[in-house]
Amino acid sequence: MITEKFTPMQCAIIQRDLNVLWHPCTQMKDHEHTLPLIPIKRGEGIWLEDFDGNRYLDAVSSWWVNLFGHANPRINAALKNQLDTLEHVIMAGYTHEPGLELAERLVALTEGGLDRCFYADNGSAGVEVALKMSFHYWLNLGKTRKTKFLTISNGYHGETLGALAVGNVTLYKDTYQPLLMETLVAPSPDCFYRETGESWDDYAARQFQALEEILEQQADEISAIIIEPLVQCAGGMRMYPPSYLRLLRDACDRYDVHLIADEIAVGFGRTGTMFACEQADICPDFLCLSKGLTGGYLPLCAVLTHDTIYRAFYDDYSQLNGFMHSHSYTGNPLACRAALATLDIFKTDNVIENNRVLAQEMAQATAHLQDHPHVAEVRQTGMILAIEMVQDKAQRIEYPWQERRGVRVYNYALSQGALLRPLGNVVYFMPPYVITPEQIQTLAQIATEGIEQATAG
Ligand code: PMP
Repeated sequence: MITEKFTPMQCAIIQRDLNVLWHPCTQMKDHEHTLPLIPIKRGEGIWLEDFDGNRYLDAVSSWWVNLFGHANPRINAALKNQLDTLEHVIMAGYTHEPGLELAERLVALTEGGLDRCFYADNGSAGVEVALKMSFHYWLNLGKTRKTKFLTISNGYHGETLGALAVGNVTLYKDTYQPLLMETLVAPSPDCFYRETGESWDDYAARQFQALEEILEQQADEISAIIIEPLVQCAGGMRMYPPSYLRLLRDACDRYDVHLIADEIAVGFGRTGTMFACEQADICPDFLCLSKGLTGGYLPLCAVLTHDTIYRAFYDDYSQLNGFMHSHSYTGNPLACRAALATLDIFKTDNVIENNRVLAQEMAQATAHLQDHPHVAEVRQTGMILAIEMVQDKAQRIEYPWQERRGVRVYNYALSQGALLRPLGNVVYFMPPYVITPEQIQTLAQIATEGIEQATAG
């Protein structure tokens, strides 16, 4: 147990926490034995530091949000400045420089594809915005039958009831099923399941047929299709090729259905391009951005859409067809300022290009794991690399979830100074972009040893 290493002061903090806090996505009983709670005192770059001075390499970017390290001096400076100017103002009826400039710059990044920006204050809330806007658009056009959403199996879009309904990961969804709106589900293009020798493109095209059939039969009832472009992150970092997104865009056009690209996890350089959709050369009708948007500093979501959608809501007030949706912290100036500072770093530091080198480094450092008897696959899309552990490699038989092999890797990594937080049996790296090649090597070594231990016996 790592807590045995802690000083009395650190143990006291842990006890205070267990007395009063309820942590996200956690069986709290685990914190007493299986999973040590780690009090964090400070962060710097790739590192998180506890109260005893132990350091942990943040290999998961603190739930995929951090892009340029903790306590980044440039983002800090921008925020301090903003703090003395304007911390927040109601965004109904008022506007401000950071919110305005951020909208302009995000729209510009889509290179003519999207031209309107609506803010929400976290990823799930942004997904709700996109779903409601899509439905409301059709309603304003008099198409009252378009009330359903089509999702992809194993997708994930957040935890609020609407977002949960259009997601498809059993662990998060099943309990709440009686509360959720009904959604249509098409099979995922997740290439983990392709036949031996089958290409990613061929498999994705094959999987696409079922989706097309649903559209053929029910498009007049479908408002939008929602998808995580290229990587189903919470679903175990499962991946598929850009060609699937092209098929999807084309079908959405043919069947008059919106395409919602949830780039909350994969946006901002994660997949090797600024936005994952770029790799397919497509533009969605709604683009949801969050997490890395603020460099991992503050919650914010931007939902971008195009003028055709916007125009359907634009009318005299008396028509009562405006988009009456709001969050108290809509377009928070501090969050927008952090986002602007993050975009500045992308501009000045050649981030996307440098990431290609880091991505290659991650591939090389983990290549040996392809041959591991309990690794089914090492897969990668840009700055996301996943290693899937299996009980039986030849037959791809999963470890029973009850064995919690991933937790063993987690605990081993922690003892070696790394924060790796596997999703079930999938160990993954999704590090801040300030990671160095040497740190990648260290991480790969820790992961290899952790996987050795976790799969032994
Ligand atoms: N969509 C995707 C693809 C996500 O990965 C997440 C968060 N993991 C969300 C939506 C929800 O975002 P939030 O946690 O900010 O509500």
